Amino acid sequence: MTATTARAFTCQLRPSDRMPALFVGHGSPMNAILDNSYSRQWAEIGDALPAPSAILCISAHWMTRGTTLVQVSQKPETIHDFGGFPRQLFEQQYPAPGAPELARATAELLAKHHAEASEEWGLDHGAWSVLIRMFPKADIPVYQLSLDLSLRTSDHFELARDLKSLREQGVLIVASGNMVHNLPAMQSGAEPFDWAVEFDALMADAITGRRFGEIAGADGLGSLMKTAHPTIEHFLPLLYTLAVADDADELNYFNEGIDLGSVSMRSCVFA
Ligand code: ZN
Repeated sequence: MTATTARAFTCQLRPSDRMPALFVGHGSPMNAILDNSYSRQWAEIGDALPAPSAILCISAHWMTRGTTLVQVSQKPETIHDFGGFPRQLFEQQYPAPGAPELARATAELLAKHHAEASEEWGLDHGAWSVLIRMFPKADIPVYQLSLDLSLRTSDHFELARDLKSLREQGVLIVASGNMVHNLPAMQSGAEPFDWAVEFDALMADAITGRRFGEIAGADGLGSLMKTAHPTIEHFLPLLYTLAVADDADELNYFNEGIDLGSVSMRSCVFA
């Protein structure tokens, strides 16, 4: 939707015990410090959301193999997991408290998927670059869940279904990746590539039609999938948002558009 309709949507949100679930296209880490249409929309959504008791972030940038980890630190560190950006970006801190008890309970919720509590990691830029604009006070406990790259896309979807009950417990689920993400093809100021537009539209059509199974089976989509996602980590977080959504949720998009030729910023909220 356009910025105007997104604003209309954010006015409709009311305090609720059932938390919305978001997928946020994070794009360049610079969005954390730039005042642009993406970061402004993140701030507006943050203002409009009901106040969560905690935030569970599933970021493209925490990848594990063979296990799903849940971050249980009291004070997760702000991780600057990028290079070649201005000093101002490296100076950013997101000092939100962790949520150790909730994080351990989340690991138990995923026990059948062999999830484990861990002190590893902290908050990577997939999480904090968005949250710093969405919840700038950094006063809401935040914890992360890793992406086990040894799982198939359908396994991620099944695992994520077991997170759904967290929405009833005041936990805001924020999955952060990009619906199209081809780093080698990225070009400053480039027009969107045809394949990027095509894949973004394919995702939007399946999400709007609530055909989540098609997206959960995306590793079978063939060459278009491989072009849109030469590596799969920025795609996987979307599966977590879709898995905790249901027919009772209203769906709205925000930040639609392709940045840098090959990065879809399309984001969605189920509420
Ligand atoms: Zn990223």
